[in-house]
Amino acid sequence: MTDVKVPDIGDFDDVPVIEVLVAVGDAVSAEDPLVTLESDKATMDVPAPIDGVVKQLAVQVGDRVSEGSVLMTFESADSGAEAAHDGDRVDTVSEPEPEPEPEPEPEPAAAAADTGTGPGTGPGPGTDTDTDTDTDTDTKVTDEPAPPAPATVDSGSERDFQVIVLGSGPGGYSAAFRAADLGLKTALIERYDRLGGVCLNVGCIPSKALLHAARVIAETEEMATHGITFGQPKIDVGKLIEWKTGVVDRLTGGLVVLAKQRKVEVIHGSAAFTGPSSLQVGDRSVTFENCIIAAGSEAAWIPGLPDDPRVISSTGALAPDEIPGRMLVIGGGIIGLEMACVYDALGAKVTVVEMLDHLMPGADPDLVRPLAKRIGSRYTDVLLSSRVEQVKAQKNGLKVEIGGVGSRIFDRALVAVGRVPNGRAIGADAAGVTVDDRGFIPVDSQLKTNVPGIYAIGDIVGAPLLAHKATHEGKVAAEVIAGHDVTFDAKTIPSVAYTDPEVAWMGLTETVAKAEGIEYEKMIFPWAASGRALGLGRDEGLTKLIVERESQRVLGAGIVGVNAGDLISETVLALEMGANATDIALTVHPHPTLSETVAFSAEMVDGSITDLMPPRRRTRK
Ligand SMILES: Cc1cc2nc3c(=O)[nH]c(=O)nc-3n(C[C@H](O)[C@H](O)[C@H](O)COP(=O)(O)OP(=O)(O)OC[C@H]3O[C@@H](n4cnc5c(N)ncnc54)[C@H](O)[C@@H]3O)c2cc1C
Repeated sequence: MTDVKVPDIGDFDDVPVIEVLVAVGDAVSAEDPLVTLESDKATMDVPAPIDGVVKQLAVQVGDRVSEGSVLMTFESADSGAEAAHDGDRVDTVSEPEPEPEPEPEPEPAAAAADTGTGPGTGPGPGTDTDTDTDTDTDTKVTDEPAPPAPATVDSGSERDFQVIVLGSGPGGYSAAFRAADLGLKTALIERYDRLGGVCLNVGCIPSKALLHAARVIAETEEMATHGITFGQPKIDVGKLIEWKTGVVDRLTGGLVVLAKQRKVEVIHGSAAFTGPSSLQVGDRSVTFENCIIAAGSEAAWIPGLPDDPRVISSTGALAPDEIPGRMLVIGGGIIGLEMACVYDALGAKVTVVEMLDHLMPGADPDLVRPLAKRIGSRYTDVLLSSRVEQVKAQKNGLKVEIGGVGSRIFDRALVAVGRVPNGRAIGADAAGVTVDDRGFIPVDSQLKTNVPGIYAIGDIVGAPLLAHKATHEGKVAAEVIAGHDVTFDAKTIPSVAYTDPEVAWMGLTETVAKAEGIEYEKMIFPWAASGRALGLGRDEGLTKLIVERESQRVLGAGIVGVNAGDLISETVLALEMGANATDIALTVHPHPTLSETVAFSAEMVDGSITDLMPPRRRTRK
């Protein structure tokens, strides 16, 4: 029998066990990871000293250990093998540490498909917090081949348009512009005065503008530890919002120009189908040969919340008239955490309540950890496994009953518990278009619905509810209508939370790999070893590459750290191109950049890294 002990782990003492990777009876090979320890700088796997069978576990998750602590007892596969083994190297896998006109406020949506609450149980955050961040391209693809679409246009047709696009969000305007560029007579319908949908008006763009302001404030605070101190920021909320609105105006105004240049007719008004080839828009009736439904989604609401201007959705949160003192964010998904980041930087005391036991569903826990650590020390509270049970509007604030926590008073409550598709609000029945019970429209890989000539794209066809998915689908739908032999077959759709630090991931996640028993190998480059990250004063990040064991083909990647959202694109390209780790490692990256961390993680896979000790390779399941 051999006791496996914690080897020399440098200056660290009394560190927690965060994962036990083996069970009693498991046969393991020398160097297989046995347990994962976490210091405040890095996570470290303790490897098996020899081939053998685990006979007894001496620790469990949460126990604290130091050098020499016994972790487990092993029976050697080879009786002649060295029995004692301590003080051997820790395989520092280098996992570092845990450490339009604007959309109106949504009506309380009785059919908030993903709130997971019902009347009678009182309000509570939904399980499916905000934009669905599945990394799979799980557009609702039906098995049934859709009926053949009228490929191109019958030029002798009597219909008003060859293509009508319903909804001018990123999916809709991309579809319309592509259709026009392919020579099709196209109209774009939008119920609001401004084009651009949720993304440009009340989503991606305004939120990122405010997040930039938040980053600047945070950076000035951080510089204090590096010898440069700025005064407290004076925030003119009106001016800040004016600037954000200016950004939105430039983009949405640009769309009007682009539509004109392409001779896309823009029709403003609320549209509803009146048949399989006709729509009513206000008092105008229009007919089409092909229609692309791009009507998007709106914020989910929690039944039972008071009708009070202090209870807001993301739309309201993006246009505050003042910064609240105490801000409650209901929902710990991407949208909730991004807005929390903004309000924290602007000076609000933020509390996040999340029903699940973890933040940001869909992301691997090791990616979320640095963010959780940072916000844990900045916010008033981050309450996991907690549920908002009741909100009462009082004169002195919103009295919020949080299950298991008690009641607290807030000045604002942001509801960020998911999005509901607009599938039921477009008269789909009149056209015979199938809408599922959550309001999504099923489509095939060419974005065809069950009705010939009618397509659907973007949020309205399902997760992930992300602008870049909508855009790509829009182009494919337009091309299919124009007769191109194309399908929407993206290998992955990357997810990004533009929080501080940013969290980005794509392709296979470890969580999914483990759940599905997929064999993979991972390498994590800690930003503590990146000169660029150190120079930015932000070394808490990590870059993780998940590869197929034999071929080292890239299967997935995750990055947490500043600009992770920009950095993830290279790994998406690698996945799309079928690249392996060596392809990335041999690609010369400029120095010193954060993009090098992608190359370094690839070098760790193929063993060519010199900026760290090359880690031992191991396969996980
Ligand atoms: C706060 C927030 C931040 C976000 N940040 C990001 C991000 O950083 N990155 C990202 O990828 N995604 C982000 N998203 C999600 C992104 O905004 C959506 O995925 C994207 O807008 C979906 O595009 P779409 O074209 O499907 O529909 P939408 O953008 O929802 O557009 C649909 C359009 O259709 C119009 N419409 C609907 N019904 C009718 C009708 N009956 N008649 C006429 N017009 C109609 C609507 O008015 C709207 O303009 C964010 C969302 C929010 C709320």
